[in-house]
Amino acid sequence: MKERLQQLQEEALAALQQAADLKSLQDVRVQILGKKGALTEVMKGMRALSVEERPVVGSLVNTLKDRLETTFVVRQAELKKQTIATKLASEKIDVTLPGRRATAGSKHPITLVTEDVVDIFTRLGFSVEEGPEIEQDFYNFEALNIPKDHPARDMQDTFYISDDLVLRTHTSPVQVRSMLKKKPPVRVIAPGTVYRRDSDLTHSPMFHQIEGFLVDDKVTFGDLKGVLTHFLKEFFGEGLGVRFRPSFFPFTEPSAEVDIACVICGGKGCRVCSGTGWLEILGCGMIDPAVFESVDYDPATYSGFAFGMGLERIAMLRYGVNDLRLFFENDLRFLKQFNV
Ligand SMILES: [Zn+2]
Repeated sequence: MKERLQQLQEEALAALQQAADLKSLQDVRVQILGKKGALTEVMKGMRALSVEERPVVGSLVNTLKDRLETTFVVRQAELKKQTIATKLASEKIDVTLPGRRATAGSKHPITLVTEDVVDIFTRLGFSVEEGPEIEQDFYNFEALNIPKDHPARDMQDTFYISDDLVLRTHTSPVQVRSMLKKKPPVRVIAPGTVYRRDSDLTHSPMFHQIEGFLVDDKVTFGDLKGVLTHFLKEFFGEGLGVRFRPSFFPFTEPSAEVDIACVICGGKGCRVCSGTGWLEILGCGMIDPAVFESVDYDPATYSGFAFGMGLERIAMLRYGVNDLRLFFENDLRFLKQFNV
């Protein structure tokens, strides 16, 4: 009996030590100390012992039981520690590593240019207005002195949605909407997206314009020249050559086209300015009395000027971009260059 206990002790201690994880440790414990375990079997055999032998063997069994329980608890603690250590190692974070840099996006060059233009006019007391891109014929044409059969409609290849709805061909309808809302004096700048059926190297069916107008009593062409010359010099730099040429627009009278000295060649003549030394930059004029009549301003009391320019065009000149399509292709290599 003692030998059997001695053998069981060796086997059990070895098995407990060898258990590789908590589950197999638990299994070993059941095999030895459980109801049908090896030690329980030995204890059943005690009935066959004599009265003198029983307490001796009983004490041995109890000692063994205690020893095995203690070994189990110690081994269990070891394995738990190991499990946690393995888990920690696999989820290790090196807090000394530098953080991941978050890449910030940059503003689109058209947005940058728009903000600069708006900024200059805001300092002159203009406020920003916006209008819908799907526009009624009345605001896009009719109220701007371009009736249905007017040949000026051919100047702008229009996307029609219905007989009465168009994708606005210019930002000028914002003029009409603003004047219907406010009484003079008004000073408004209106940037926005416009659409025309036109697509080649220098034209896109979707592009951006900025429109501005000022109405008050006693506004003259001199005011128009002063404001626009100031703007162009603020935007392109002091000392810039500026000239006004007579032109035609249905909604202004008289009308003018404004040129600046070529920013590429400085006026000597190059490919960009077709050898003339001048670049067309914006259209403008004194608001036609017919426009005032459609918004209920009295043309005898009020006068004003309006101007409009293409934002892609001035962005191309400012950044030296020679292909309009680059602005709309969303090539990150192109756009990242404007990250400031
Ligand atoms: Zn030039």
